[in-house]
Amino acid sequence: MVKISFSKSSAGCCVNYVGTVLFRRKKFGRITMGNSKGECRFCHKIFSGRGIGKHLLACGAKKEKDETLNNRGKNQGYIYHLKISAGRLYWFHIEMEGMATLLDLDDFLRGIWLECCGHLSQFTIRGVRYLSYEEPDDFWGDAPESMNIPLESVLDLKDKFDHKYDFGTPTVLALQVMSIRKGAIDESIRILARNHPPVFECENCKKIATQICSLCMEDYCDKCIKAHECGEDYAMPLVNSPRTGVCGYVGPLEE
Ligand SMILES: [Zn+2]
Ligand SMILES: [Zn+2]
Ligand SMILES: [Zn+2]
Ligand SMILES: [Zn+2]
Repeated sequence: MVKISFSKSSAGCCVNYVGTVLFRRKKFGRITMGNSKGECRFCHKIFSGRGIGKHLLACGAKKEKDETLNNRGKNQGYIYHLKISAGRLYWFHIEMEGMATLLDLDDFLRGIWLECCGHLSQFTIRGVRYLSYEEPDDFWGDAPESMNIPLESVLDLKDKFDHKYDFGTPTVLALQVMSIRKGAIDESIRILARNHPPVFECENCKKIATQICSLCMEDYCDKCIKAHECGEDYAMPLVNSPRTGVCGYVGPLEE
């Protein structure tokens, strides 16, 4: 694994908190069409990142599907609707069984957005930390809790909390409980909607970028990356994740 240094940080990204880096990238305004929008997976209409949450709570097609699932006679429990976001470009809406654990949620986030080389991760909920790794020895008496705890024991409606993956070059996500209902879903986590891949312009020729330089975090097309001053070794494919270009992240294993 190439250890990425941020020695070029004075060029514009000295803070390695990914959300911040994004907004500090000097050409942030270069994004072209379709950004931050996404499709409702039930009625297939397109909404902005800001509008989709409200829509999902009212979507008729979703209500119909929910009723079918509820009527199947499966045991009903609490279903949590969560919004997960990193800046305004990257977001997910999911539903999750209240009996599923923070560990399940962590697994989902790693699988779809984050996992590069098995770093530690942590949720912080109302000031309490829940770590992916259980500390064997509570020497200081302030050890974080385990993630092996059901959502319904730690989260209430409207709660806002965060998730941090990797303490060295962290990716921080903001989460919020949008609704809690009684019902049944057919898997422990289901995706309601996610953002379309953001489209970035090539730093050089302004065509659509496909690569990100993991050293300076600038975006380039396949052609221009070859001539980029940091060298081609730092080039990584641009992927639909807030971790794109960070610590060797090249997208989910599956998909
Ligand atoms: Zn819909
Ligand atoms: Zn890594
Ligand atoms: Zn180019
Ligand atoms: Zn570069």
